Amino acid sequence: MSETVYDVVVVGGGPSGATAACDLARAGRKVMLLDRAGRIKPCGGAVPPRLLEDFAVPESLLVAKAKSARMVAPSGRAVDMPVGEIGFVGMVDRDEFDEWLRSRAAAAGAVRQTGTFDHIERDAGAGAIVCFRTERGGDFQRVRTKLVIGADGARSAVARENIKDAEKMRCVFAYHEVIAVPESTPQGFDGSRCDVLYQGHLSPDFYAWVFPHGEQASVGVGSAHKGFSLRGAVETMREDMGLDSCETVRCEGAPIPMKPLKKWDNGRDVLVAGDAAGVVAPASGEGIYYAMTCGRIAAQTADEFVRTANPAVLKKARKAFMKEHGRVFWVLGIMQHFWYSSDKRRERFVDMCDDKDVQQLTWQAYMNKRLVRAKPMAHLRIFLKDTAHLLGLKPVAR
Ligand SMILES: Cc1cc2nc3c(=O)[nH]c(=O)nc-3n(C[C@H](O)[C@H](O)[C@H](O)COP(=O)(O)OP(=O)(O)OC[C@H]3O[C@@H](n4cnc5c(N)ncnc54)[C@H](O)[C@@H]3O)c2cc1C
Repeated sequence: MSETVYDVVVVGGGPSGATAACDLARAGRKVMLLDRAGRIKPCGGAVPPRLLEDFAVPESLLVAKAKSARMVAPSGRAVDMPVGEIGFVGMVDRDEFDEWLRSRAAAAGAVRQTGTFDHIERDAGAGAIVCFRTERGGDFQRVRTKLVIGADGARSAVARENIKDAEKMRCVFAYHEVIAVPESTPQGFDGSRCDVLYQGHLSPDFYAWVFPHGEQASVGVGSAHKGFSLRGAVETMREDMGLDSCETVRCEGAPIPMKPLKKWDNGRDVLVAGDAAGVVAPASGEGIYYAMTCGRIAAQTADEFVRTANPAVLKKARKAFMKEHGRVFWVLGIMQHFWYSSDKRRERFVDMCDDKDVQQLTWQAYMNKRLVRAKPMAHLRIFLKDTAHLLGLKPVAR
């Protein structure tokens, strides 16, 4: 076994793990970032400007900036939601974005290791022994560490091995096709707009999307319904939107967690973060910003763990994250459960998006990552309109 003893081995070099490794290295900890190579994370790549600010990510990593979202109802009615002066939705290509984050972690002093995590062993010595392979079928490499951060995504092998009930994590399965964008389509493709389609035939319980990425676009759909054809839905959507003849660059899919795990640590030497901990916003499926936030919190917690050698501090990670974002996740969870459950409700949901107050508060919440308290009258108006919608008192606009 290698003589080196790490303070922390971070498994997974996505946004969460790369952020955790970078912060730990900057804090002077001896850290290894273990990531398996060769796969681009399937992702729509939409990020809020706050991510660039909070994590000092340069705007040059954005391949597009969307200035509005188009919400499409089951009837085909489209409601445009301009972002206005308060910001934009940034788009990143995950191959470049993730690699930039990993390189930054390495530049800060993290030891980068390419390999696939397999399991953790423990012996009479201190800490945990992380076992991984650098090539398929090759021998195990082993490194000793005081703490393991599992940031290896949804269906995390670290979480499944070490965190109770992690295998029961609720997920939506998402599939997208990366296409070369057309100059124009009769249906009006717009490279500065995100299209979000709330239509039961495209997704019975989530939504479908077209996100612009400069010369490419992500056309995707999510659903938790087993047996629902995600590929079929994307095919239909591409036909409907005049995108069927565009070159297909990649087709890929992955699960999106829908609820944070109840426990993020094993009370001993393992902490999970990002998708591995289940921190994706319900209703929107937004996970990159939350994965990085969670990675940062995991790094702070790990730093305290290494300093104090007290496993009880590991609990603080989940507590800190949920204190900041738990309420937003709860509200979004209810929203998804209610509004995404039938075409009738989806129609009303899109109708509500036509409201200027709803648009303003939605964009403010997206930009700032918290529920907006500043405008009590706007909240009251939305509450009354919401109630009218729920009771069916307001006719659906056509
Ligand atoms: C189709 C789709 C579209 C999405 N669109 C958006 C969007 O537009 N905006 C948004 O904010 N979020 C989106 N998400 C969610 C977002 O992609 C995730 O929430 C985010 O990537 C989570 O980051 P992470 O670092 O926790 O995990 P990941 O990004 O999944 O990174 C995990 C890393 O661990 C590595 N790894 C896995 N297993 C092992 C192993 N055994 N050994 C070593 N390394 C391992 C992987 O190679 C990877 O580098 C989307 C997800 C999907 C599936």
